[in-house]
Amino acid sequence: MAETADRTSEKKSALQLHEAIQNGECSAVEVLDETFARIERDDAKIGGFLSLTKDLAYETAKAVDAKVKAGETLPLLAGVPIAVKDNINVSGYPTTCASKILEGYVSPYDATVTEKLRAHLMPIVGKTNLDEFAMGSSTENSAIQPTRNPWDLDRVPGGSSGGSAAVVSQGETLLSLGSDTGGSVRQPASLCGLVGMKPTYGLVSRYGLVAFGSSLDQISPFGRNVADTAGLLQVIAGFDRNDSTSITAKDTDYLAAVQKMAGKTLAGFKVGVISELNGQGMQAEVSEAFQNAVQTLRSLGAEVSEVAIPSISAAVAAYYIVATAEASSNLARFDGVRYGLRVERDDIYSTYCKTRGEGFGPEVKRRIMLGTFALSSGYYDAYYGKAQKARKLLAREFADAFAKVDVLICPTAPTTAFKIGEKANDPVSMYLSDISTIPVNLVGIPAISIPCGFDRQKLPIGLQILGRHCEEFRLLQVAQAFETASGLFNLTPSLN
Ligand code: GLN
Repeated sequence: MAETADRTSEKKSALQLHEAIQNGECSAVEVLDETFARIERDDAKIGGFLSLTKDLAYETAKAVDAKVKAGETLPLLAGVPIAVKDNINVSGYPTTCASKILEGYVSPYDATVTEKLRAHLMPIVGKTNLDEFAMGSSTENSAIQPTRNPWDLDRVPGGSSGGSAAVVSQGETLLSLGSDTGGSVRQPASLCGLVGMKPTYGLVSRYGLVAFGSSLDQISPFGRNVADTAGLLQVIAGFDRNDSTSITAKDTDYLAAVQKMAGKTLAGFKVGVISELNGQGMQAEVSEAFQNAVQTLRSLGAEVSEVAIPSISAAVAAYYIVATAEASSNLARFDGVRYGLRVERDDIYSTYCKTRGEGFGPEVKRRIMLGTFALSSGYYDAYYGKAQKARKLLAREFADAFAKVDVLICPTAPTTAFKIGEKANDPVSMYLSDISTIPVNLVGIPAISIPCGFDRQKLPIGLQILGRHCEEFRLLQVAQAFETASGLFNLTPSLN
């Protein structure tokens, strides 16, 4: 085992690992053996995985090795192990959403993204921890276990996709999938020193993702560098008739777009700093790292200016109306009859109440109540109607901004990773940690978070780049140029 460990772990990127498997330098089964050995060694302290899908993973890895032996060309990223957030269905395996209410539930079908991972022969190794039903920013709302940040085990990995972020940061896998409704992939990417990208709304099918806020949710990739993340996005993107909000994008060869940037500057790229999110009022080191990132982009030849999006001040409030309203409706299906937990009582109404009372955790209940209230007659116009108006206004301001610049930038999160428990009893301060990421979901545009520095405690800081609808390639190109210039990629926590 020691020898195989050396052989595959020196392949730092997912794309290199894939190439090594294709060339027969190592087998997919060997890579998987090593992956599970790492998970066994490290995950007890990280708590990233809720369950493993070993049979499925080995079945896929064997199929990869058979193809290599037969001299066939493998699909993109074949053989590279991947972790999947536990609100995405993998047929025949549990989906818990880190909630007690789904105890015992086994998914009868694959999400579209799962089918795509299978078609690309990427071994799915397990399901990762999250804030219950993806509601949170720290993964502390998981009803099952906490997840720890590999950069400092006393700190949160961010959330809600904290499990998917932590396992990639720790190097248990090189890639993972999360879901991003208001920042749940970009914020943990920032706190764990990774790349995380929320695609344009509709670019990746939501079929088989347990719905939270349907008009905001997007399945999103995590990677340790821009090219790996671009490759994974390419695997999962595409029109799907099972998702009525699915779109057809023209250029989805994201990898080619990134590779085109080799040796190139950003001359001709117009970058706008969002005035309302220019680092002021944020942790001093975050602000400092952001100003340095702006300098780096300038030195790469980008033309940088400031652009105002005034309605950003209303974004968090609008989000917590829209997201909770949609969640209250989406979560009505968990009633003790159709899925998972059932707490039997004499009559059906009491069974519903008892099941939901015992099955949902406090944050989920808070959101169902908020959302139900916001949608109730008499209050609908005052809250939901108003939130939708704020959303429209925000969309208009972003459109105006993108008429002037190609991409916008801001820090991904106002702080670096906070201590476990630090914000647990202060939901509003937790909600505010998504100030930079939430506007993106409200208007459906793509955005990526990439590492841009460290604070004094050696905790990673993220830079967010936002783009026009379906211009993922442009975001990725700016991100790639920045990554090359900064040298901040494939970061390994110093604890390891
Ligand atoms: N932290 C935000 C929330 O709690 C976003 C969550 C998400 O993107 N799933 O709703």
